[in-house]
Formats: sequence, C-alpha cells, structure tokens
Amino acid sequence: MDFSKHSIRLVQRCPICNREYQMNRVQIIEEWGNSFLAYMTCTFCQSSIMVRVMSMPQGLVGSAILTELSPEEITKFSEQEGINANDVLRVYEVNQSSGLLKEIIKNNN
Ligand SMILES: [Zn+2]
Repeated sequence: MDFSKHSIRLVQRCPICNREYQMNRVQIIEEWGNSFLAYMTCTFCQSSIMVRVMSMPQGLVGSAILTELSPEEITKFSEQEGINANDVLRVYEVNQSSGLLKEIIKNNN
C-alpha cells in the first residue's frame, strides 16, 4: 500500500478548481503488481477523477481523467469483458435484418 500512497501525490490539485485534494479521501479501486487505479472526489467542486499509475523502469507514469462514474461503476465496468469482433458482427447482423439503427434514429428525431 506504500507504493500507492506515495504515488498518488503525483496528483495534488483538482484540475477543475485547482484546490488541493484531501489525501485521506483517495480510494484505491484496484491494485496489482506495479500498477493501481485510484479515484478521488474534490471536496470543493465535487468533480471526480480516476488516476492510473504504473511503475516503469524509467519512473512513475500516471494518467488521470475526469469521470462522472462512481467508484462502484468503475469496478463493475472494469470486471466486464471487452467487446470483441464477434459482438460487433452480431450487432451488424441484427441491424441488417431488423433495421434497428433506423428505428433508433427515427425515434430520436
Ligand atoms: Zn475541485
């Protein structure tokens, strides 16, 4: 847990309001090997970010994105299987035979 506690200091300020994060509010969502995924919500503007940090031979590499997902939703989606080529083909076939996409577009107009 030391690794994540230290590394999370890479992100110190909220990208929206520029206030300092309260480090005791950081949630570690997943952690394995040399990488972890953390989640934090700004106590001032309530915007949330997801941070992925990896320890590489050349140092720590991190990326943060703003998210509207809750930590529970992030866990749920990260456990789901990705979409593969067969899924895409199946959707294509269903669309061809039922005109699903036309129906959706029609209902949105
Ligand atoms: Zn903020």
